[in-house]
Amino acid sequence: MSLITKKTTGNHLHFIRFLYLIKPLNLYHKHHFTLPSENPNLHDVNDPLLTKPPSSLSLGKPHFVVPTNNMIPTQPSSRRSQSLYPHDDFVSSNKMITYYIRIADLDSARKVFENMTVKTTVTWNSILAGYSRKPWKLKEARELFDKIPEPDVVSFNTLLACYINNSDIKTAWNFFHKIPVKDFASWNTMISGLSRNGQMNEALELFSIMPEKNSVSWSAMISGYVEANDLDSAVDFFNKAPIKSVVAWTAMITGYMKSRKIELAENLFQEMPVRNLVSWNSMISGYVECGRSEDGVKLFRRMVGLGIRPNERSLSSVLVGCSNLSALGLGKQIHQFVCKSPLYFDTSVLTSFLSMYCKCGDLGNAQKLFHGIRQKDIVTWNAMISGYAQHGLGERAIGFFHEIKNQGVRPDWITFVALLSACNHAGLVNLGIKHFESMKRDYGIEAIPDHYTCMVDLLGRAGFLQKAVDLISGMPYKPHPAIFGTLLGACRIHKNLELAEFAAQKLLDLDPNSAAGYVQLANVYADMKRWDQVARVRQLMKEHKVVKTPGYSWIEVKNVVHEFRSGDGFHPDLELIHAKLYELEKKMKLAGFVPNLEFVLHDVGMEQKEMILLRHSEKLAVAFGLITTAKRAEIRVFKNLRICGDCHNAIKYISVIEEREIFVRDTVRFHHFRNGTCSCGDYW
Ligand SMILES: [Zn+2]
Ligand SMILES: [Zn+2]
Repeated sequence: MSLITKKTTGNHLHFIRFLYLIKPLNLYHKHHFTLPSENPNLHDVNDPLLTKPPSSLSLGKPHFVVPTNNMIPTQPSSRRSQSLYPHDDFVSSNKMITYYIRIADLDSARKVFENMTVKTTVTWNSILAGYSRKPWKLKEARELFDKIPEPDVVSFNTLLACYINNSDIKTAWNFFHKIPVKDFASWNTMISGLSRNGQMNEALELFSIMPEKNSVSWSAMISGYVEANDLDSAVDFFNKAPIKSVVAWTAMITGYMKSRKIELAENLFQEMPVRNLVSWNSMISGYVECGRSEDGVKLFRRMVGLGIRPNERSLSSVLVGCSNLSALGLGKQIHQFVCKSPLYFDTSVLTSFLSMYCKCGDLGNAQKLFHGIRQKDIVTWNAMISGYAQHGLGERAIGFFHEIKNQGVRPDWITFVALLSACNHAGLVNLGIKHFESMKRDYGIEAIPDHYTCMVDLLGRAGFLQKAVDLISGMPYKPHPAIFGTLLGACRIHKNLELAEFAAQKLLDLDPNSAAGYVQLANVYADMKRWDQVARVRQLMKEHKVVKTPGYSWIEVKNVVHEFRSGDGFHPDLELIHAKLYELEKKMKLAGFVPNLEFVLHDVGMEQKEMILLRHSEKLAVAFGLITTAKRAEIRVFKNLRICGDCHNAIKYISVIEEREIFVRDTVRFHHFRNGTCSCGDYW
């Protein structure tokens, strides 16, 4: 495979454990969010997270506000204002305003308000609260506030919050100082506003002169420091806080996760006296973002097992986790589980599922879901366009781009990343350039590094290496390391040693520990049989203590994820897999397959090279899929690096010999092998 593959013993058992984690999800069908029973197999008995009794867990807030009788008048009709009992009218009108504001129907609330003959400050405050919650209603809120005959501290606090919600911190600050009598809420609102806005010095100033502090004040400071990535100050405040609310504990968990101090986050999660849904979500998303998707998924299962209802945030995190693990089976089970809940009508939840299906290689289900989403927002469209791009369906992605314009949806920068990568994977160079140019001109979207990386890839792969270099030099900001990595990849395809050395040098200047940089450069030298240079790069890597990410592939069979590494000697079915590969090798050679020894970079003999190729992780995974799944069943294999050229060619032959459709997702895209060809058209 590659020159510096580090032989590791693999963490296969780790994945086998995942089996037990995945399987029992199909227990969920009876109830929306509660498991009928806890399966003892699911949990690690020694796991400290389990030792807390479920009663200590507070349930998350219900996702929807269900109006109750004391909130809604039994007949919300303005005719009731003609009642013979003026006090009843007053009470019911106030209730109606509160109700309409809760359901975010500001116009109806305003109508009731205007028709009221008697208004108290409470009435004024209710309607003001409605305006302060909506964005862009600052002017109306201010006008209302000015009309309140006797504003009280609640009126002041409500308008203060309105300034802050509209990010007008400066006016908020001036207004705060004019509040005649300040209560806890006034101080806390201002401190939170400053800290959410990253103005920690000002927040601290206010905090220190605040006459009396409560847990909200402490939490605001801790959250602010976490947000500002000042973990030390957050820890300091957390330790000093006399009362630690669940918000403070959760903010600290988020802070530790952001700094990748997973163990410290776990300790806090274990120690905290009360957890809410936000705390669980913080742990789950923390795991997923720190590359520990398995743990994230596990914790999600545990949360659901305890009867805690997930919200859209929990689902979005766990589905990203499923996508990272390519655990389609698990993703489907979560889909079934959520199907009957009200969450299922939420566009963002459906989009998370859509994205998961795309990333796990099930484009069919993704499309079905897409057509069923009634209110598609730009995120939904982006997910589908990216899905098509990843699967190499460039034309369809571009068609969808025109469709969103017809629907009057405004594309954003992510749409263009998806669109440019669609052009890239389909080799549509001119169209890509056209869209890149129109992005700023016609849509006012500034190009960010991701767009430039797409363009360098597009130009580079198509062989316009010099144009790619020119584009990098014309960038309005300092090039990022990834862009040179991309250029380096293109130089390898086109065997341009001079530019490859240039790109590698730039990449290693910016990121001296870039394993990818060294490996790619070694690859280029090896392609040209410059073994002395390969050795030199190897030596450099040793000197810089660079560790290459070992390549591995995995496949989910009957809800178990099996992982393979190149030259794996670990899997229990290895003998069967090797036998299958030998059998395939014979058939492939008869069909005209010639192994491409270029992809073996070790300076070894021919026979040995063929042997090494035969044991590449993606081939092992495909062979395992062939022997363990039903005839003609589709095979989905995932790889943590780019698929190798020889394996790509071999799998084309295998798809004919075995009459199978085989999907391989690598770091860049999906390859869909069928009848001896690949959906990428050998352009990747
Ligand atoms: Zn290979
Ligand atoms: Zn392909």
